[in-house]
Amino acid sequence: MDQRFTDDNPRGLYFLADLVNAVQDGSAAAPAGLEAVVKAHGGPSLRLTDITAEEVREAVAVIAGILDTKDEDSAAEAINSLLDQYPARPRLARLPERRWSLHAQAPHDAQPAQWLLSTAALALALWLSERGYCAWGRCAAPGCDRYFIDTGRRAPQRYCSTRCGTRVRVAAHRGRGR
Ligand SMILES: [Zn+2]
Repeated sequence: MDQRFTDDNPRGLYFLADLVNAVQDGSAAAPAGLEAVVKAHGGPSLRLTDITAEEVREAVAVIAGILDTKDEDSAAEAINSLLDQYPARPRLARLPERRWSLHAQAPHDAQPAQWLLSTAALALALWLSERGYCAWGRCAAPGCDRYFIDTGRRAPQRYCSTRCGTRVRVAAHRGRGR
């Protein structure tokens, strides 16, 4: 089941994970692919050119770099540097069927990449301060490199989805039976 619809989307972070995954797996190689991910998460209707799409992909690489960080001090430093460069201008907003939540509002003339980085900076900053550690990661299942947001309250999450977790358990079980 798609996690996004079963619990609250924490601070737009599933959006960031989806976007990073889409760029990584090539489904957002064209401007339309990037626009589709943003739209699917209730973001603005972007009209990307090849140039602004490239800038967005560079921004996505910066976000991926933070999602690869497991050390909270380094992550905080990286996020603070984004907050300095791309001030988030937080505002409470209410998306359809959701409760009020804090969103970044980029200036009207902001380029898509700037919008993305200010949105990401606020989302990651709120999440790190709420959880106190880097509650995100990359799937440990062989052959899967997808990023995920760790919303668990107990053991740290290791897989991007129950599907990957099950796949690994089944493989381990078969290995023992041999
Ligand atoms: Zn996975």
